[in-house]
Amino acid sequence: MEKISRRSFLNKSAVLAGTAYPALMALGLMPAAPAHAFSLTGTGKQKHVVILGGGLAGMTAAYELNKLGYRTTILEARNRSGGRVFSVRKGSTNQEEGGPILTSNFDEGMYFNAGPSRIPHHHKLTLHYCRELGVPIEVYNNVNESTYYFSEGKGRLSNQKVRAREIHNDMRGYTSELLAKALDQDKLDMSMSKEDGAKVIEYLRAEGGLDIDKLYKASARRGYLEAPGAGEKSGKLADPHKLVDIIQSGLLDPDFYNVAEYTYELQMTMFQAVGGMDNIAKALEKKVSPSLKLGAEVKKVHNLPDGVRVIYKDKTGEHELLGDLCICTLPLPVLSNIDHNFSSPVSKAIDFVPYIQTGKIGLQFKRRFWEEDEHIFGGITHTNNDLTQIFYPSNGYLGKKGVLIGCYNFNDKAKRVGEMSMAEREKFALEKGSLIHPQYKQEFENSFSVSWHKTKYNMGGWAVYSSEDRKSHYPALLKPDKNVYFAGEHTTYLTAWMAGAFESARSVVTALHGRVTEQSVQYPTTTNKG
Ligand SMILES: Cc1cc2nc3c(=O)[nH]c(=O)nc-3n(C[C@H](O)[C@H](O)[C@H](O)COP(=O)(O)OP(=O)(O)OC[C@H]3O[C@@H](n4cnc5c(N)ncnc54)[C@H](O)[C@@H]3O)c2cc1C
Repeated sequence: MEKISRRSFLNKSAVLAGTAYPALMALGLMPAAPAHAFSLTGTGKQKHVVILGGGLAGMTAAYELNKLGYRTTILEARNRSGGRVFSVRKGSTNQEEGGPILTSNFDEGMYFNAGPSRIPHHHKLTLHYCRELGVPIEVYNNVNESTYYFSEGKGRLSNQKVRAREIHNDMRGYTSELLAKALDQDKLDMSMSKEDGAKVIEYLRAEGGLDIDKLYKASARRGYLEAPGAGEKSGKLADPHKLVDIIQSGLLDPDFYNVAEYTYELQMTMFQAVGGMDNIAKALEKKVSPSLKLGAEVKKVHNLPDGVRVIYKDKTGEHELLGDLCICTLPLPVLSNIDHNFSSPVSKAIDFVPYIQTGKIGLQFKRRFWEEDEHIFGGITHTNNDLTQIFYPSNGYLGKKGVLIGCYNFNDKAKRVGEMSMAEREKFALEKGSLIHPQYKQEFENSFSVSWHKTKYNMGGWAVYSSEDRKSHYPALLKPDKNVYFAGEHTTYLTAWMAGAFESARSVVTALHGRVTEQSVQYPTTTNKG
């Protein structure tokens, strides 16, 4: 057999287009490309790309363009980067329309994520950039059976907190019992063999926790009245809630649908950046800091025959910036009030795509009573009042102090809360929250709230497309308007997610680079299996 040296093996392998890389890897001579690495070829020849907005989309675009040999300038209106990726800490500021600049009084080390707080395990690019930028992540506990349902109303279970596990297991039990009975009595309008029917019934018994007679009765699944312990303490179970009480107490209303476990984006495992989601933005900022101008508010963006002209304002006055090309990541409600000369379809999309109204209120407490007294470690309590949700932190377990997201709401509920003054919001969150956690009264220290649809430089939570908008307005944003490209979560099917910002940045960099280098490249450039 012919002996083959490492060098000749390499030479031979290299000839086989596309096989050189695996061969080098096999010999341990080259590190494996990180999953989801962005592999464009050719150089940007120092072309100047002006990027509007220093959120994740803008900074990622600059980061990738810089790697390809472009010159980039990011104009960011705020004095911080990250845009919606905003972790409120001691000294963080925010300004809402017509209001003063507010400063957070949280203690050192305390924070809450006013924007993104969770990363789905299948958001590959978000996780890829955490890996590439060295941002450590930890599990975010999105689903917790120990949290509560609190329904204001007239039913027997209303106006009291009920553990989620009680309602989830009772409803699983009742629906399984109903279905098992219907199958037993051949009342289902479907043909099924006896053996198959028996299999389904056995499944329902397991799923619903039914007894041998296919009846739903008290079980440990829904928790204990008295927990088991040493000696004679065998544990005391409670009877299930009556189905009629669950229904009449509003606990089958949409506010309490148990969808988080099933929704693709919210299925566990979920993650968060250790120490605050803004660590992702901060890590990106480090990579692009020479390109980034903070405190630079874009006032005007105009296409020129062979480039772009941007006017921005900073604390020293108005300035003109010329570029060969531009990537605009400004949220549409903000862009709508900026002077531009875009085509009519783009202009219409900018003016008509709606954004969600949403807000969060962070509450700092001097004791983690939800953990100490109620054994709640992460997860979400649901209400049908304007609070909508209370998020318990998935970090700092067993610590002394903590920050809860005492309210995270949407649409009309967010609008009503957004119309309140900061002091009124705090009062509202404390009053409603103490119906569930009376400890609020003794343990509260201070609060900070963000109403995103009123927040300067965002004016909305995220784009909400109807299927009609996807047809009429969306396509205009996917093409460049002469020398201006559009990116940001609103240019994706991943609206409301950081992954949208990352995907859009890569998509636009691919298109722009293809134009500059006269190559035909499609995004995504890597296979995206799994
Ligand atoms: C309440 C809330 C919860 C969320 N939860 C999650 C979550 O759990 N997980 C997740 O992955 N995603 C979540 N998201 C979505 C995620 O935050 C966004 O999709 C993503 O951060 C958008 O990035 P972007 O770069 O497209 O936009 P932005 O972050 O909005 O960036 C745009 C930038 O433009 C700047 N700007 C605006 N006007 C001007 C101007 N005139 N001149 C210069 N600069 C300007 C802004 O200051 C901003 O920095 C959430 C968002 C919100 C609001």
